[in-house]
Amino acid sequence: MIDVNSHLLLIYTGGTIGMIENLETGALEPFNFSHLRSNVPEMKRLNFHVDTYIFEPLIDSSEISPNQWREIVQVVKSHYDDYDGFVILHGTDTMSYTASALSFMFQNLTKPIIFTGSQLPIGKLRTDGKENLITALEIAADKDEDGHPIVPEVCVYFQNSLFRANRTTKINAENFNAFISANSVCLAEVGINIRYNTADILKPNYDEEVVFYESVDDSIAVLKIFPGISSEVVSAILNIKNIKGVIIETYGSGNALSDEWFLSALKGAVERDVVLVNVTQCLYGEVAMQRYETGQLLIKAGVISGHDMTTEAAITKLMYLFGLGKTPKEVRELMQVPLRGEMNTDEE
Ligand code: ASP
Repeated sequence: MIDVNSHLLLIYTGGTIGMIENLETGALEPFNFSHLRSNVPEMKRLNFHVDTYIFEPLIDSSEISPNQWREIVQVVKSHYDDYDGFVILHGTDTMSYTASALSFMFQNLTKPIIFTGSQLPIGKLRTDGKENLITALEIAADKDEDGHPIVPEVCVYFQNSLFRANRTTKINAENFNAFISANSVCLAEVGINIRYNTADILKPNYDEEVVFYESVDDSIAVLKIFPGISSEVVSAILNIKNIKGVIIETYGSGNALSDEWFLSALKGAVERDVVLVNVTQCLYGEVAMQRYETGQLLIKAGVISGHDMTTEAAITKLMYLFGLGKTPKEVRELMQVPLRGEMNTDEE
């Protein structure tokens, strides 16, 4: 039920939702929030209170970096006690990365943090931005009979679906349904009613404080395997100076080539304490390295399973764990344990 006494903070970082067309170049550029508010007069009809925090400058999310993730954490942290929930307007291009990062940067979160944005600017007649914004606000204001928020998680709300943030991937640059959560059920489906999958929503310990983490370590890389990949490419990535972790995007259920040069490059990196995490290039399904001989060779080389994690979740989880100052051994262990519902570990 929407709590009419709810106070929400709407954090506007940029993205298509608030952009307008530059008449000279035809390109979409960030615009200010008064434009956004004036295009959503429906916000005045919400029966709860919404304040706004605007990023300066507003950014296209393809420019986002961990500095802005830190800034979002700081904004939420400094306003945490004043608000019942937070809605973050963000470009869709990197929304899954930012939202995944934030899911790790808050521990024992007791309030909703809902990311949304749009595919068409809010000033366009056919915009998807209005529905996304209004529903994200309503979800953030929803409480259960004990007065607790229904979704005290970091989520992405887009086109009638509420997803756990660290399960999402942007899959569509054209249609309004830009995101999916391939390996995990939606936390809510929105039609005439908002139907929550309450059994799947993570609940915090309300007797304990939320913990905010502001540092992430970006000494990581992604190695995408493809037929014909050369030893130069592999070794250039695995030997990057000060690299701490590499996400290896493999085929199917976690398979890659079994050439000696490849396996010994992986072993060499593991001996140098680089954490190698296997995630699949497939959208659906999980890494099960024991299933094929090629996968088993990766286990022997010291590669760990990322199970059914998205690349976005694996990258941001590694950044978070190294940001905490964990040792490579601890990172290897924690990468294989779900911390915020980011993966399912029951492999066949
Ligand atoms: N380039 C835009 C951004 O990510 C795309 C969008 O918002 O949909 O900021």
